[in-house]
Amino acid sequence: MSRPTRAVIDLQALRHNYQLAQSLAPDSKTMPMVKANAYGHGAVKVSQALSDIAPAFGVACIEEALELRSAGIKQPILLLEGAFDAAELKVAATKGFWVMVENHQQKQAIIDADLALPLTVWLGVDTGMHRLGFHSDEINEVYKTLNSSRNVSQPIVVTSHFACADDLHSDATAKQIATFKVCAPVAAMQSLANSAAILAWPKAQREWQRPGYMLYGNSPFAGPQENADKLKPVMSFESAVISLRSIAAGESVGYTANWTAERDSTIATITVGYGDGYPRNASNGTPVLINGVRYPLVGRVSMDMITVDVTELSDVAIGDKAVLWGPELPVNEVASYCGTIGYELLTRMPGRVPRIYL
Ligand SMILES: *Cc1c(COP(=O)(O)O)cnc(C)c1O
Repeated sequence: MSRPTRAVIDLQALRHNYQLAQSLAPDSKTMPMVKANAYGHGAVKVSQALSDIAPAFGVACIEEALELRSAGIKQPILLLEGAFDAAELKVAATKGFWVMVENHQQKQAIIDADLALPLTVWLGVDTGMHRLGFHSDEINEVYKTLNSSRNVSQPIVVTSHFACADDLHSDATAKQIATFKVCAPVAAMQSLANSAAILAWPKAQREWQRPGYMLYGNSPFAGPQENADKLKPVMSFESAVISLRSIAAGESVGYTANWTAERDSTIATITVGYGDGYPRNASNGTPVLINGVRYPLVGRVSMDMITVDVTELSDVAIGDKAVLWGPELPVNEVASYCGTIGYELLTRMPGRVPRIYL
């Protein structure tokens, strides 16, 4: 016997979502973003499951890239924040990692480096996110400088990142694309689209696209969207009922007694809590599926347990399966009860939760 709390990961759904991204831009190459442990799904398993179809992978830092190399991933791996020091550049050159270059310090470090092999460089332009990247006015100059370095291999990929592509009514994405068009060197390869842009902004298509969230089967949009509606959620976060009790009207449940029964109630206790990545700030009423039926969370989320009001139906029993999020209960919906987005709930799931791969 073991604790029933687990994340079941459907690798067929993952491949379906990758192929959807690819089919929306058949002339682009599709680089899966597997940073942050593949948004909580397990970076090694996810990369292995895509390794026969994905030409490269993207991660946040060299530690994440080295984990994939050690696991036998052969493709180039892009370091999305570039190298943090000269030692990382040397490792990147020998291990076949690609590096983002986002500022003059990183540019100079590449030029000054003593490398065994030239590096593939992705050059970041700030088209409006104002977080990383060179100013559009200076990009041609930086491009020329890097192009003439013996440490840089051909071609350079010029890239930018969208701030608001998930907002279908915002004009920010069109503006960013326009800025990029004006400044991007003609000879360079290009990359713009994240998940939201792949799904909804065909004008963002370039040689490379960089899907993250959509690969895991979740929509970056708040409402329905034709292409996003074809995604299949990859993770089912599951647990089970471990206790049932009747409480009288007026009794409260859990730490801080923040929920009081208005009627005689039946409370099911499920063995999952904030120690498993179920958010503590999930409010009363957050839906939880038991045997496929939605019930409201009541009372505070504990480290290892939550409590659910199952008064409506009497047939809940100890051992019954509970789903915290999954194909029938989008993580986005749960996140909306917690003041955050599905990205955060997935990404912060701890190693304590076993990942079971289908
Ligand atoms: C994380 C990331 C992506 C993927 O974004 P999603 O919204 O998850 O698709 C794409 N590009 C860059 C530079 C990123 O850091």
